[in-house]
Amino acid sequence: MESYLAELNDAQRAPVLQKDGAMIVIAGAGSGKTRVLTYRIAYLMSKGVDPFNILSLTFTNKAAREMKKRISQIVGSSEAKNLWMGTFHSIFAKMLRVEADKLGYPSNFTIYDTQDSQRLISAIIKEMGLDKDIYKYKQVYSRISSYKNSLITVKAYFQNPELREADAMAKKPRLGDIYKNYVERCFKAGAMDFDDLLLKTNELLNRFPEVLQKYQNRFRYILVDEYQDTNHSQYLIVKALSDKFQNICVVGDDAQSIYAFRGANINNILNFQKDYDNVQMYRLEQNYRSTKNIVNAANSIIEKNKTKLDKVVWTANDDGPKIVVNRLLTDGDEGRYVASSIFENKMQKQMNNGDFAILYRTNAQSRAMEDALRKREIPYRIYGGLSFYQRKEIKDVLSYLRLLVNPNDEEALKRIINFPARGIGSTTIDKLTIAANLYSKSVFEIIENLDHLDLKINSGTRNKLTNFVNMIKSFKILTENADAFVVADTVAKKTGLVQELKKDGTPEGIAKIENIEELLNGIKDFVEGQEELADASGSLAEFLEDVALATDMDKETNEDHVALMTIHLAKGLEFPYVYIVGMEEDLFPSGMSMSTRSELEEERRLFYVALTRAEKQAYLTYTQSRYRWGKLVDAEPSRFIEEIDEVYMNYMIPQEDYKYKPLMDLDIFGDVDKSKFRQSKPKSGTPPPAHKPNEEQLRKLRKLRPTTTDYPTASIKDTVKLEAGNEVEHIRFGKGKVLNIDGVGQDKKAEINFENGGVKKLLLRFAKLKLL
Ligand code: ATP
Ligand code: MG
Repeated sequence: MESYLAELNDAQRAPVLQKDGAMIVIAGAGSGKTRVLTYRIAYLMSKGVDPFNILSLTFTNKAAREMKKRISQIVGSSEAKNLWMGTFHSIFAKMLRVEADKLGYPSNFTIYDTQDSQRLISAIIKEMGLDKDIYKYKQVYSRISSYKNSLITVKAYFQNPELREADAMAKKPRLGDIYKNYVERCFKAGAMDFDDLLLKTNELLNRFPEVLQKYQNRFRYILVDEYQDTNHSQYLIVKALSDKFQNICVVGDDAQSIYAFRGANINNILNFQKDYDNVQMYRLEQNYRSTKNIVNAANSIIEKNKTKLDKVVWTANDDGPKIVVNRLLTDGDEGRYVASSIFENKMQKQMNNGDFAILYRTNAQSRAMEDALRKREIPYRIYGGLSFYQRKEIKDVLSYLRLLVNPNDEEALKRIINFPARGIGSTTIDKLTIAANLYSKSVFEIIENLDHLDLKINSGTRNKLTNFVNMIKSFKILTENADAFVVADTVAKKTGLVQELKKDGTPEGIAKIENIEELLNGIKDFVEGQEELADASGSLAEFLEDVALATDMDKETNEDHVALMTIHLAKGLEFPYVYIVGMEEDLFPSGMSMSTRSELEEERRLFYVALTRAEKQAYLTYTQSRYRWGKLVDAEPSRFIEEIDEVYMNYMIPQEDYKYKPLMDLDIFGDVDKSKFRQSKPKSGTPPPAHKPNEEQLRKLRKLRPTTTDYPTASIKDTVKLEAGNEVEHIRFGKGKVLNIDGVGQDKKAEINFENGGVKKLLLRFAKLKLL
């Protein structure tokens, strides 16, 4: 056996060794799903599969890089280089570049980031004369985004009276018009937004069978990590590409599905077995990441969710310390406590900063943490804030570069046409935009043709506009002979952007100049990196694509720092010590996600994700009062704290007069008197044992817990016959009578009056029903 295969347990090795066919690995956190994908790719390559024929889709580009690194170690780096690995967005942006002309896009299309899209929508709302308090641009953006991710095009939207009605009911009858306008403007600007990268890929694969075939033949082996969080658009792409060879391996954990709010569809995982022939289903049960205490506490949490595939998760790791729970007076105290505790752990256990993560539900919570870490001089990095490339000064430089690659890029143009100030006012820009819309041209083209148009722009302004266009054109000529670094360096200097900041002279201004320098260094690195590759030219367009899809998660750094991030971003990661802060009702679970069971269950999954990031120890903190919306409010401990079986917990007593004291006096690891804490509710359900269960116990556990195949107990086949008047029995709601059936196929629903649960509408393909 190849030596790397010995680094897997039997259950993990099985999906790695199954070379062909469709397979799904469903398993709890830390059980080696990502490892299985990594080793499977190495194995395929060792069996002679050409890396060009392997496509691997990951949740972040960083994850892809790490997998690639491991694969390089196993099979050699020259081979691994040719793998297509990355996020859906980065992989399909690459594919769209090649095929863009088929969809009427230039191959140098711009990628609009969220900020660009929102600015455009905001401008459209204004142009249409709509009330911006009703048509809030961020809301409109997310609505359009969700349409795109459900493949509802503008045409489909207008053909669907229900959607129009729903928007009208939400007081936004013109939403469809904004959508239409937005799509046209993006197209005219030669720009795709993030959602387009998926939507257009679908369009491409649907409309052009020869393109579909080309990529089906190319990607003979497809692998997807975090499959539980794919949205409909992503699901369809994977389905189309894998349809011919059906060599598809997806891994995921329904208990970690946390992106429903962004359109992730858990049914993708639940229906996988129906989507392909002869699906092999694998389960992994041993967790290698965390201590017994953490694994069991996490199990006891997820037990509380009703909608789930039950799984066995156990670990052979040590018990480890219990989970520390502490109450603090305010968020300031919370920050100081966390910083002290990190400091203490570092000293006592000789840990690095990088061994610690602080996780929170909302970005706003980072401030108190930052203040406290700074005071203690503990280096930290915030992930998921404004990415480096979204900072104003950086985006200004990038906008010039974008315009060189694609002069029709309207958002880039509007950003810099008068920055640094060159006397081109907003009235002029409005006139140009109106003309551009009227003639279906880009603003840049309108300026180029000013002499032929009667736009009532005075000659002074005309000159300024012409100078601007000439400057851009002169830079563009430079791009033909010079690499991206030379171009960017020239732009930064010649446009006056840097001088402007130098004049400013404030520390902020200086920091901005340093950022621009940093950007130039990055471009230099990129150019040098590309020179090593035979097939890339180090062009500006390629750099801009990397940048458009970069998240600050992707930034490589060698610094040793504590990581601060939202729980959503922490998915797939692991840290020895994890602090989950702000464990309060209304904050976590979020006040906005408590109105329905499914929202609450998603919050609970989020907590499960948070807790299972920890390897050695987890800390939960909450405050007595916290500033919310500018007011100090009483905070109540999160229900999730109470939901953990208390045998895994170590409650600290918050002293009545608790105040931050210097570290030596602060008794952060003091003993516990639970009576002073609060009453815990009796616990229900016993989580699986921490030690490896013997065969007998495993059988019992598995028997108690329905397997995925059981999840939709009544298959469509059985329930097609169902009709009004039938008597049925449901696993939870007991006996009932069918009142009504509607929908067809996958969407078929039954309205049933249950003795125990009243009238419920159930989707038949999931309903656990028995016909009586
Ligand atoms: P998540 O659900 O959080 O994404 P996962 O199922 O993808 O987790 P991995 O990240 O692949 O789990 O593995 C968790 C940790 O356990 C990693 O540090 C990994 O290297 C380690 N690990 C996995 N399998 C083994 C094994 N057979 N032997 C030793 N360590 C392992
Ligand atoms: Mg993983």
